[in-house]
Amino acid sequence: MIGAAAVLGALGASAVGAYYPNSWLFGPVIGQGPRTGRDLFLTFDDGPNPAATDRILETLARESVPAAFFMVGEHVRRFAEVGARVRDGGHEIGNHTDRHVKLHRRGPARVRTELTTAHQTLVDRLGVTPRTFRAPHGYRNPFVGAAARRLGYQTLGWSFGVWDTALPGPEVIRSRTRRHLHPGAIILLHDGDGYDPQGDRLQTAEALPGIIRDARDLGYTFRPLSLLLRDTASPA
Ligand SMILES: [Zn+2]
Repeated sequence: MIGAAAVLGALGASAVGAYYPNSWLFGPVIGQGPRTGRDLFLTFDDGPNPAATDRILETLARESVPAAFFMVGEHVRRFAEVGARVRDGGHEIGNHTDRHVKLHRRGPARVRTELTTAHQTLVDRLGVTPRTFRAPHGYRNPFVGAAARRLGYQTLGWSFGVWDTALPGPEVIRSRTRRHLHPGAIILLHDGDGYDPQGDRLQTAEALPGIIRDARDLGYTFRPLSLLLRDTASPA
């Protein structure tokens, strides 16, 4: 058996795969929808968040827009009612690790614990069996692919982010998003802060109505992420 250190050391030569969210080096990743047509896919990471998530849910409900939420297990335990409202909104809920750990330099045991603990939290607290996984920052290694496969997950990347976590202001978040829109884009936004359960993501919430309006003005339709997933009833 090859030790974790040896595998991680060898990864020096393949850093591209470790840091690029859509790289297939450690298994298949969905990072982009069909480039024909005018579909867009909204995704929110790092919640649930006590302030921003509900505002985002209100906008999505008002506009009848589906989205996917990649949740941090620790945040789900703190704000289970908020997570339940995401579920009740009919949105896709995915695993984003238990404590938002950068997985690329972690060994197999820690990686597996991060994924399985978050998985169990989503099952226990929300009654949701997640079928998708997105790595914090997109950082992965071979153990991440193996742990995700064990849980029957499909791994998601993203087409573009707009650095909304740097709090550039809602108008900047909106205009950056508008500039990057393209057919099939999986858009990465944040309804929470991976490292601060109460982190401020209200700018993203505030930008969302304008983002939806811009996309519709350009002829796009927001579609559920499930359209991009393989049909998988149960883990392999
Ligand atoms: Zn994250």
